Amino acid sequence: MEFHLSNISTSQPAVSEHVKVLILGSGPAGLSAALYAARADLNPVVLTGMELGGQVSVTYAVENYPGFPEGVGGPQLVELFQKQAERFGARVEFDTATEVDLSQRPFRVRTYNTEYLADTLIISTGASSIHLNVPGETELTGRGVSYCATCDGWFFKDKDVIVVGGGDSALEEGIFLTRYAKSVTIVHRRDEFRAGAILQNRAKENSKIKFLLNSVIEGIKGEQAVKAVQVKNVNNGETTEVPTDGVFIFIGHNPNTALFKGQLELDELGYIVADKRMHTGVPGVFAAGEVADPVFRQVITSAGMGAAAAMQAIHFLEEQESIVETSATA
Ligand SMILES: Cc1cc2nc3c(=O)[nH]c(=O)nc-3n(C[C@H](O)[C@H](O)[C@H](O)COP(=O)(O)OP(=O)(O)OC[C@H]3O[C@@H](n4cnc5c(N)ncnc54)[C@H](O)[C@@H]3O)c2cc1C
Repeated sequence: MEFHLSNISTSQPAVSEHVKVLILGSGPAGLSAALYAARADLNPVVLTGMELGGQVSVTYAVENYPGFPEGVGGPQLVELFQKQAERFGARVEFDTATEVDLSQRPFRVRTYNTEYLADTLIISTGASSIHLNVPGETELTGRGVSYCATCDGWFFKDKDVIVVGGGDSALEEGIFLTRYAKSVTIVHRRDEFRAGAILQNRAKENSKIKFLLNSVIEGIKGEQAVKAVQVKNVNNGETTEVPTDGVFIFIGHNPNTALFKGQLELDELGYIVADKRMHTGVPGVFAAGEVADPVFRQVITSAGMGAAAAMQAIHFLEEQESIVETSATA
């Protein structure tokens, strides 16, 4: 049986656990928030969601996170994040938030296993790249299939790569990849790009970039690494096999915010709207990392936002305590 939210019983769990800081998500943002909250003795609880460690856990190597001159494996990096947070008292639970009620404090968060009452909530549920959903894509992710040129471009020095997409990010990332790759073939389902004119001109003038228009990828082939893609021409239905070393997919990102619709302000793309201090519109609810960041989308920026959100949560709890103390002595 697939695990859908509709499979969850709506009956109330027998016991609710009250926590000062509840963190949704175990990616770089969530685990950094956990480290800061734990070092303030707040015993934060981190709900991992379905992907322990977040997107970086599917990354073969991270070479742009400071402190690791030789690079570090993605799973290894998040394991270190987790250990460091746990050392100061953070608790990591293999569980997923399925329902939230942010209408009053403490905030109620239902999960598959229990219910939490949280004085503060840090949302770091990240975003997921939109996938092509073709055969070979999942199996070869991290082995030639990538959703991040800044992260993985370096591994394709003097190689041939395919970029899928027709928007700004596809062309921008395609142009970026020409720093490394011998050739970049942009595969786009239409004969016109959504990307801006300047980017289109820059791409067309770049001698390393080729275009396969009116074309869609139907499958990605390879055993240990990507070897080829099957490309179908949407005009005549012909399918050809194009040899390649890598496939970079830039057809969009979906922030994981469905749970918060109607309770928090989301922008037109569905990202949580938070201010510079990670505050959402609900006092005590903070958002950090890719769930609130359609722009930078890196480990270091997400970790920074997580730390900032925890610092603000600590500050919020201190303020609440001083209000309680003042009213008790008044
Ligand atoms: C293939 C790939 C390679 C990359 N390489 C690099 C790189 O080399 N360098 C770099 O800087 N960046 C890289 N990135 C980007 C980087 O991984 C992300 O920017 C970063 O992971 C974002 O961190 P985050 O914590 O905001 O969110 P995520 O990493 O997206 O984590 C989100 C977390 O939320 C959890 N979650 C979701 N829904 C729920 C829920 N309902 N309840 C509880 N938890 C939930 C998920 O299980 C997950 O743990 C790469 C990304 C990919 C996909």
